[in-house]
Amino acid sequence: MPVAWLSAISTSDVDSAGGKGASLGELRDAGLPVPPAFVVTAETYRAFIEEAGIADDLFEAVDVDSEDSAALASAEQRARELIVDTDIPERVESSILAAYDDFEGDPFVAVRSSATAEDLPDASFAGQQETFLNVDRADLLDRIKRCWASLFTQRAIYYRDQQGFDHETVDIAVVVQRMVDAEKSGVMFTRHPSTGEPEITVEAAWGLGEAVVSGAVSPDNYSYDREAESIETVTVATKKTMHVRDDETGETVERSVPDEKQDERVLDETELAELHSLGELVEDHYDQPQDVEWATSDGSIYLLQSRPITTIEGSADESRNDHADTDSGESGTSDVLVDGLGASPGTVTGTARVVGTLDQLDKVNQGDIIVTEMTTPDMVPAMKRAGALVTDEGGMTSHAAIVSRELGVPAVIGSENATSTLTDDQMVSVDGDRGVVADGHREPATDGEPQSASSGRPDGSAGGTKPMTATDIKVNVSIPEAAERAAATGADGVGLLRMEHMVLSTNKTPQQYVDDHGEEAFVNTLTDSMRTVAEAFYPRPVRVRTLDAPSDEFRQLEGGDDEPSEHNPMLGYRGIRRSLEEPETFKLQLRAFKKLYEMGYDSLELMLPLVTDAEDVHRATALLREVGIDPEKRDWGVMVETPASALCIEELCETGLDFVSFGTNDLTQYTLAVDRNNGTVADRYDELHPAVMGLLHDVIETCREYDVSTSICGQAASKPRMIQELVDAGITSVSVNVDAVHDAQREAKRVEQRLILESVRD
Ligand code: PEP
Ligand code: MG
Repeated sequence: MPVAWLSAISTSDVDSAGGKGASLGELRDAGLPVPPAFVVTAETYRAFIEEAGIADDLFEAVDVDSEDSAALASAEQRARELIVDTDIPERVESSILAAYDDFEGDPFVAVRSSATAEDLPDASFAGQQETFLNVDRADLLDRIKRCWASLFTQRAIYYRDQQGFDHETVDIAVVVQRMVDAEKSGVMFTRHPSTGEPEITVEAAWGLGEAVVSGAVSPDNYSYDREAESIETVTVATKKTMHVRDDETGETVERSVPDEKQDERVLDETELAELHSLGELVEDHYDQPQDVEWATSDGSIYLLQSRPITTIEGSADESRNDHADTDSGESGTSDVLVDGLGASPGTVTGTARVVGTLDQLDKVNQGDIIVTEMTTPDMVPAMKRAGALVTDEGGMTSHAAIVSRELGVPAVIGSENATSTLTDDQMVSVDGDRGVVADGHREPATDGEPQSASSGRPDGSAGGTKPMTATDIKVNVSIPEAAERAAATGADGVGLLRMEHMVLSTNKTPQQYVDDHGEEAFVNTLTDSMRTVAEAFYPRPVRVRTLDAPSDEFRQLEGGDDEPSEHNPMLGYRGIRRSLEEPETFKLQLRAFKKLYEMGYDSLELMLPLVTDAEDVHRATALLREVGIDPEKRDWGVMVETPASALCIEELCETGLDFVSFGTNDLTQYTLAVDRNNGTVADRYDELHPAVMGLLHDVIETCREYDVSTSICGQAASKPRMIQELVDAGITSVSVNVDAVHDAQREAKRVEQRLILESVRD
């Protein structure tokens, strides 16, 4: 049958109905109020391309070099033309229209792509596929075809290519659902999305849900303590805009909320009680905390979508934090081969490739699992191909952890014995959430939206809404290839773009690069990388940090033999101190900034690493002026990552800088005298140590007096307690890894709401 009604669909029908369709069928089956819908099944898409005779042309059109952006763009266009311009076979068309006619009253419908399990296993990515609202009968078939065509957007082709998925075997289903003419709508989290505490949060606004989901409006927020069975807080926001359906055109339009309703509370106690019990039912049904979209119409509540909350720290972080004192038996599975830190989430099964030396990287094919002692920057191309990464060494701030998180490659880091335990060609399953590597294929958890649970390249948008926060929530980017993914999180900009990764990926020291290719080429390399990120985020600000690579990292590169031999590179020739000793190289970096400013990238901010005092800053700004950058006209600042810079913060503020950013990875190691890469003392590495926190608090206080903005971009920025303390102290922005953006947004919002409440109560 070309179509299936929800009543005939359950979770086990993901292959046919896609994740979204299966989830809705399951909700309906559980007796929950879901608007009526049918699914144009994955088999129907397949029948369409085959019966219409376009399959071969289609797959040929999308068989391009995914690194070639022009080829990608024309592949997308050709695929769309083939699908949209081809008629749907008669028998399929009449089944779809007959199903539509079973809705009463010729209603508007929502037409949504529903990714199948084989495709795009990350729900957040699947969310990139098309959805159309307020579709009428006349447009229905066209919109369904456009959903099918969204299987071949540039990003989807690229992503699938990178993941080793075959375009030919990927299917897509389409959900056609009666529109709820929503008077009120919003989202509900059945547990706290960071801590997993039994607290239901409901966000609500007037009109259709897009305003809440897109972050266009600050919704009311209601939190409910499930254990005490009482409403904890009610925050009524000023809701200036709403989305409604235009009666004439049927389009969704943004309207001003009438004055008298702007500050009116959206949900009363009865509606909240009904929502809470629906939330508990959904969670009980799936046996997992859920993120639910809901709407009301004619006094009834409908559930539009439910997905598991994937951001709760519990399972993932416990396995990370407990790692030091657990052994593999703790993971609760008998087939665990190796365990370590879950450094980048997602589960992937593939063939292990034990890589000892760089010349063995060729054996890593698309989707293979790299098993190595520790990654180096020249492994990045192979990491991009890899399905997952497992290392013997490294912590949460190591190269392997940072790059794999940004690439969205699941990773288990610091296992100690992966290279000696795993063997070449062995089939293994890597679980980057729990930090375990198991034998063969680990079955993905089944739930309403299995693609998000089974594997992942999560971006911060996975949870659906973007809470509005006064504190800016930004994202760290190290490799330009991750820019688009990072930008899609809705982060308020890039809080840290590390320039050294741009250099390391050339596999040459800056000096060697200049010797081989000339100064201009070096400047251009930096310009291109920075521009990729600035472009992806424009006009959101992008803070680029000048070079900060310890000499031992440079030594591995071509030209590295000339690097000084240092007893302790972490305390050595790196950051601004090196740039000031080698002003010619520093000026090449600055010229890249200047070029981009001239191209109009006024969103770029310049940040100096490992500063100790104002003298460093004066010498650096003199060099800025020498290359023609006027510090008065540009936003620039310094990392606070040495205790000296924190203790000298007043004189630093007097240099005229615009911002400081806490590099807690370094600040912690220097304050506590604990080498951040030394596993032997890792249990003493504590970014929340009172000595570190004391420095952070003092710097924020002084900076506020000087009107200098403050940020944190070290790894600790994703810890809820760090966010709580620093937002409380008045930090301006928080910058986290791409997978932590959504979580940080919610945490900051929570703290801000508490502060507002406290000030109102005082
Ligand atoms: C830090 O020190 O916290 C930081 C963000 O810089 P890096 O990790 O590159 O040293
Ligand atoms: Mg640092």
